[in-house]
Amino acid sequence: MRHFVEAQKRVVVFSPDNTPVVFVDTGDEVVFETLDCFSNQIRTCEDRLESLDWNQVNPATGPVFVNGAEPGDVLEVQILDVKVREQGVMATGKGLGPLGERFEAYYTKIVKIENSKAIFNDLELNVEPMVGVIGVAPKEGTINCGTPGSHGGNMDTRYIKKGARVFLPVFVKGGLLALGDLHALMGDGEVCGTGVEVAGEVVTVIKVRKDLKLRNPMVVCDGKVFAIASAKTLDEAVKEAVCDMFEFVMSRTNMSSEELVMLFRIVGNTEISQVVDPLVTARFSMPMDVLERLGVSI
Ligand code: CA
Ligand code: ZN
Repeated sequence: MRHFVEAQKRVVVFSPDNTPVVFVDTGDEVVFETLDCFSNQIRTCEDRLESLDWNQVNPATGPVFVNGAEPGDVLEVQILDVKVREQGVMATGKGLGPLGERFEAYYTKIVKIENSKAIFNDLELNVEPMVGVIGVAPKEGTINCGTPGSHGGNMDTRYIKKGARVFLPVFVKGGLLALGDLHALMGDGEVCGTGVEVAGEVVTVIKVRKDLKLRNPMVVCDGKVFAIASAKTLDEAVKEAVCDMFEFVMSRTNMSSEELVMLFRIVGNTEISQVVDPLVTARFSMPMDVLERLGVSI
């Protein structure tokens, strides 16, 4: 079955107490309409960050209750398409990212999007639409949609795009999946604080996976498998991502742990997703074809 979830049906926190806006079955197609990370409050260059209603920032469309998803399962979200609207916005300034101390105020910039190009002054840059926020409800408490974690959330990982499969551990019945914060384009690190923030639509197929156990999110995209972890420091996030990949592969092969570590060293890559959200996000990737030759699939 196909479901359409309007952007008005949104949350700004991931929580087991959020009321589901739709109930879907495993294998259903779900289209999420999304606002941008400022809830579309910045429409012109005159709209300033200072005058935003910050309670509306980082909305995620949902949550979607997936029938049959139980704590300990995994949700697989296949991203069939990410469509972005014709205008994006960027913001930077005081305290945002590694260059934040150079600025005294906040700045916004409108970036038009035409024919799959983001128009940045005279530069026409190919868009690569991605999903910044995708997550499920934590076991208890609430997590702001601007914060990443084991539940997913604001991972700002540019591989969460068309063709990707995103795997999220389920903590509560139904999972309560929500997503938003599309970027027409974003580099690793998101160093100024935003990508080209844009409203749009994400077409997904959602499946319940009873055969997988995960502690943190994983993503498959562009021929690679990524373990994704968020923590207070990059050191901790990297360690967690590498450990997750290690456990994932170890439990599926006969390889010794020494050999697997060596293999990690020659074909695995440690990468940074973002360094600007309240927690930072790192990922460790392995080529899918190497894993498949070891008999590992996901
Ligand atoms: Ca984000
Ligand atoms: Zn964003």
